[in-house]
Amino acid sequence: MTNRGTLDIRNVSKGYSVDGRRLDVLSNVNLHVAPGEFISIVGPSGCGKSTLLRLIIGLDTDYGGDILLDGARITGTSLDRGIVFQDHRLLPWLTLEKNIALALENSGLSAREKRETVAAHIRLVGLEGFETAYPHQLSGGMAQRGAIARGLVGRPGILLLDEPLGALDALTRLRLQEEIVRIWRAEGVTMILVTHDVDEAIYLSDRVIVMNSGPGRIVEEITVNQPRPRDRAGADFAGIKRRVLALMGEYEIEVA
Ligand code: ADP
Ligand code: MG
Repeated sequence: MTNRGTLDIRNVSKGYSVDGRRLDVLSNVNLHVAPGEFISIVGPSGCGKSTLLRLIIGLDTDYGGDILLDGARITGTSLDRGIVFQDHRLLPWLTLEKNIALALENSGLSAREKRETVAAHIRLVGLEGFETAYPHQLSGGMAQRGAIARGLVGRPGILLLDEPLGALDALTRLRLQEEIVRIWRAEGVTMILVTHDVDEAIYLSDRVIVMNSGPGRIVEEITVNQPRPRDRAGADFAGIKRRVLALMGEYEIEVA
C-alpha cells in the first residue's frame, strides 16, 4: 500500500454564499502530500481548515480547482478516505462493533470478511473486550479510539483528523498522540491532522502547514520538519515553534 494516499490540491478555492454575498474561505490553496506522509495543519479559528478537510473527504464537491487522490479527482465520499472529528460521532444506538461495521456497508466484503476486518481494527486501537459496548459506556478517549478504528476500517489511503484530541484531558491526549503515531507507522496511511495545538503538530507530523486568515485566507507557509523532533530529542523544537507561531501572527520575531 506504499504508493497509495498521494494527495494533490491544486489552486483550490471555496466560497460560501452568506445572505446573498460570497464569503471566500479558501483561495488558491496548493498542497502536495506524499504517500505515507504525516502532515498537520494549524491556523486561526475560522481560516478554513475544516472546510478543506470537507472537500478532501468529499462531503462538499462545490469548489474551484482540483483535488486529486492518487491521480483521480474527488467526486464524493469513498472508502479510500477516512475521517475523524473532534466529537466521536459514533451512533448511540449501536454497539462499538456495529458502529465500525457500518462504515463497511458498501465495501463489497462478505459478512465474514467484515467481521474479521472490524475485529482487527478494534484490536488495532486497543479496544478488545469492548466490542459490544455502547458509546455511552466508553470514556472520551476510548470513543475517539473507536472513531479512529471506524476511519481506518475501509483501509483508506488517507486518514483526515479534524482536531481529534481537542475535547480530551491532557493525559488522555498524550496517550492518544502516541497511539496515533503508532497506528500511522503500523498502517502506512497518509495522515492529515488539523490541530489547535502547535506542540502537537510539531511533535507528531513531518510537516506543519500554517493557514492564515489574511486576505484570501490562503495556505501561507510550509514548515519542513524532518527528521521529526521526536526522533532527535526535540533539538530545534523551540525554533520551529517560534516560526509557526510567528506565521500565525501570535509571536513577534525578535529582529537581530
Ligand atoms: P476552521 O475549521 O479553520 O475553524 P471552517 O473551515 O470551519 O474554519 O470555516 C471557515 C469559514 O467558513 C468560517 O468563517 C465559517 O464561518 C465559514 N463557514 C463554514 N461552513 C460554512 C457554511 N456551510 N456556510 C457558510 N459559511 C461557512
Ligand atoms: Mg474546524
